[in-house]
Amino acid sequence: ERMMASEAGSYDEHFELSLRPQRLAQYIGQHKVKENLQIFIEAAKLRQESLDHVLLYGPPGLGKTTLAAVIANEMNVNVRMTSGPAIERPGDLAAILSSLEPGDVLFIDEIHRLPRAIEEVLYPAMEDFCLDIVVGKGPEARSVRLDLPPFTLVGATTRAGALSAPLRDRFGVLLRLEYYDNTSLAEIVVRSAHLFDVDIEQIAALEMATRSRGTPRIANRLLKRVRDYAQVLGDGMITEGLAKQALELLQVDPRGLDHIDHKLVTNMIERFRGGPVGLDTLAASIGEERVTIEDVYEPYLMQIGFIQRTPRGRVATHLAYEHFGYEYPQQT
Ligand code: ADP
Repeated sequence: ERMMASEAGSYDEHFELSLRPQRLAQYIGQHKVKENLQIFIEAAKLRQESLDHVLLYGPPGLGKTTLAAVIANEMNVNVRMTSGPAIERPGDLAAILSSLEPGDVLFIDEIHRLPRAIEEVLYPAMEDFCLDIVVGKGPEARSVRLDLPPFTLVGATTRAGALSAPLRDRFGVLLRLEYYDNTSLAEIVVRSAHLFDVDIEQIAALEMATRSRGTPRIANRLLKRVRDYAQVLGDGMITEGLAKQALELLQVDPRGLDHIDHKLVTNMIERFRGGPVGLDTLAASIGEERVTIEDVYEPYLMQIGFIQRTPRGRVATHLAYEHFGYEYPQQT
């Protein structure tokens, strides 16, 4: 299959591309999502139609881009990849749409960041597979309708709520990706190690999984770095001892939390007595953007029960106090 990924080829991108599963059967975890997709794909193939438009949502690094390419592979079509911020003018989108072949998948990452004027080009394209374009200027201007081949739009976003309602309503399939459990993450680490031709002990893979914040992208990054230690300090094999030693040296927190998670939670504890504290106040106090905290940091901290959302703001739980070595204040 032809894959038109972005041209920019940083080392990390090549690394990620090389590890991407190609088929649904190789896509680890996310059982509910896979089961659903399997059925929709089969049905579309039986009817010889393009797959309905799919919206994938969930935190970064959980496999949305990967899944878009998997969908295209399963449908035996090409995938064209772009992102909301990359499409600046309606003409950019029109050019992409009119270059698609029947059944192709168009993947738009960060689709909530599409400008409104461009969303409006997308509506008739999604609904009726056509483009309304204006030709001529002033009193001569008239609208022309262009037919498009049927295609499947796969949109990805960190939050379905960030999408405008008319856009969200035009997706037939809404799928939410969840954080991965440690067993699935360990499976991903082992799979990636095989692709790298590195031997790894099951228990070492599990050790790395528990420090990956439920996120395959982080699991693969840890593997890449631990592999370096294994080659330099050991004989190339990733044993449990070596993984632990490497993770220690890399200063990866036992729960996989990074320095921003640390700053966020310790700030809540030290400066706001554990909360409740409003998201904006919290964001300002650690110099991060509100959306970054909301989309990237907070979901995982809530998932592991370190933070709770209350009507009056965010609260740090006793688990957070314990993890960061603070004494939990007696409630009165
Ligand atoms: P997103 O688009 O959600 O930010 P990606 O699709 O780029 O995430 O996934 C990040 C990396 O994680 C990919 O390089 C891929 O190798 C790996 N990955 C994601 N999901 C899976 C999965 N279900 N099974 C195996 N590897 C996965």
